[in-house]
Amino acid sequence: MILAYKYKLRVSSFQEAMMSNWLSMLRSHYNFCLRDRIEAYEQVKSPKLGNYSDLKTKAEFCPLTCSISNKSQLGSPFKKSGKKRNALEMQSSELPFLKKARPWYKNIHSTVLQQNLRRLEKAFANFFDGRGYPKFKTRQKFKSFSYPPNQVKLENNKIYLPSIGWMRFFKSRNIPDGFNLKTVTIRSLADGWYVSIRIENKDIPQSKSKDVKEIKTVMGCDLGIKKLLALSNGELIENPQFEKRLSKRKTIRQRRASRKKRGSSNQRKAYAKLARLDQKIVNQREDYQWKIAHHLVRLADFIVLEDLNIQGMIRKCRAKQDENGKFLKNGQSAKRALNRLIRDCSWGNLTEKIESVAAKFGSICLKVNPKFTSQKCSHCGHIQKENRNKERFLCLNCGFLADADVQASINIGMKGLKTLGISPSKLLMVNQKVTPKPESTGSRNREKSVLLETEPGNPQQLSLFEWVNGEAIPC
Ligand SMILES: [Zn+2]
Repeated sequence: MILAYKYKLRVSSFQEAMMSNWLSMLRSHYNFCLRDRIEAYEQVKSPKLGNYSDLKTKAEFCPLTCSISNKSQLGSPFKKSGKKRNALEMQSSELPFLKKARPWYKNIHSTVLQQNLRRLEKAFANFFDGRGYPKFKTRQKFKSFSYPPNQVKLENNKIYLPSIGWMRFFKSRNIPDGFNLKTVTIRSLADGWYVSIRIENKDIPQSKSKDVKEIKTVMGCDLGIKKLLALSNGELIENPQFEKRLSKRKTIRQRRASRKKRGSSNQRKAYAKLARLDQKIVNQREDYQWKIAHHLVRLADFIVLEDLNIQGMIRKCRAKQDENGKFLKNGQSAKRALNRLIRDCSWGNLTEKIESVAAKFGSICLKVNPKFTSQKCSHCGHIQKENRNKERFLCLNCGFLADADVQASINIGMKGLKTLGISPSKLLMVNQKVTPKPESTGSRNREKSVLLETEPGNPQQLSLFEWVNGEAIPC
């Protein structure tokens, strides 16, 4: 089983300066190697420039005079044994020369440099898998470096990072027995330095997801803005809107920072303060989302979510022009406020967390297309747009009345069952309201959240839907 634990480091000012220095050096190294790989890649694939050509000079080469490879131009393309090197190996064979030409790179631990190249390799592997083209990293995007396994040592609340030294960390949780350290990543955030440790125990298998036949309870979830989640058991999880809550303070800090003298240390401090506020919002949201995810997994062993196209939802409105080419109002300014609310919900992150917690406990999590789920009557199956009136759902065919979001979540649950090919008549729908909801504030509600620790699939906490001719009627 592989787990990842995160701790906050207690670094000395000397270590902090050293690590910041490393980050900027590693970033240059990353960007340098990225440019090299991009050039090699573009040169070979670009037919406009002739067979082989140098991108800088645009001069043509013929294969006899040029040893251009499509992997990298740094380093030697062959091993001592005569075998070909791949791009990672080529660039890593260049490292000794880098250290000779720029001796300050010797300060960085060699394995960290290697790991930096591996990060680039991963970016290209992702690209070849069909994801985005690797990008150059700005200072804001390059905030971490990592050590490979077997380099870092741990002792109680102390950690040893090679070439940096021992430092203490806030041991917020214990590493379970029998787990070995794997990759260790050091990350700089607005409020300090963090270490994230991957630990592995090979004796414990990763929990297998349940078989379809083992599913006893199902839960449909409808994502929303006002209510972050509506569950098919009638429970509504509110959306604290963390960003909006602190937006006033954020505006003030933004204004203060922008009015400081450019490049002054006062400006730097003001922006750091602003960044800490952003970090706070992220922390609050993450905490809340983890609690929701655990709550859902406790309730049911099959969770059905909506497969939302969030990027499409927050896309800009198309520009409108009249016949003279003058731009008309297209409603974008009104939509901007909505987009901000959607971003604040962070549905994508929430879904990811639910999926990962479900995988950890062996539950099944499925995304379904949410088409018509808010217009369809879960009682008689009648689909009509007018069924839904804001938060109220009234079926114009059979008169079924319900909360629109909850009724949509029931439809989502049904859709999930249909996708897996389970007949609903054999199943229990979770239909119990749990009053304490996951709260964003930690210690005060710790007692409450203990109440939620009920076994998934426990029949006592469930009550049946009434099933008439294969159709569900909520009790
Ligand atoms: Zn109906």
